[in-house]
Amino acid sequence: MSVDALNVYNLALEMIKLDARISIISRETGLSTRLLRKSYREIHNKSPSSGLLRNTPDFIYKTKTKEKQATVFCILYKLDETASFQRLINVYKRYIDFLTLSEQDKPTLLTFSEAWALSRFLDQAQVKLIECPVCSSARLITDQSFHVCPICKK
Ligand SMILES: [Zn+2]
Repeated sequence: MSVDALNVYNLALEMIKLDARISIISRETGLSTRLLRKSYREIHNKSPSSGLLRNTPDFIYKTKTKEKQATVFCILYKLDETASFQRLINVYKRYIDFLTLSEQDKPTLLTFSEAWALSRFLDQAQVKLIECPVCSSARLITDQSFHVCPICKK
């Protein structure tokens, strides 16, 4: 294995530990899903879950907690300027640390796969982080639909 190949495999292992979807890991690393499934089973002692990936940002607005968590993740993502895919992994870990410190009641976390989808929506400007013109809170908006500010309800 070359150094590059080892780096790619390490990246894949980091994502497996964060419970990322196999399809996402394969897409980002180019490694085969067969190898990734095997590694996943070795690390988690169970088979990886499958399912559809988020292809619209609507999931952010499912609950107020989710919206708040998505906003926190997007702020952290915007603050990090790492140019490689490692950025998403670093920001996701920071996001978990932040929520662990600030929320004692064990909130439902944004999954790594949701964070991955969100980072793509941000990069493609399908989701935008703005300052609420009324109360100045950070707020997420999408092109498709209108959502009231979770803080001031305007
Ligand atoms: Zn507001």
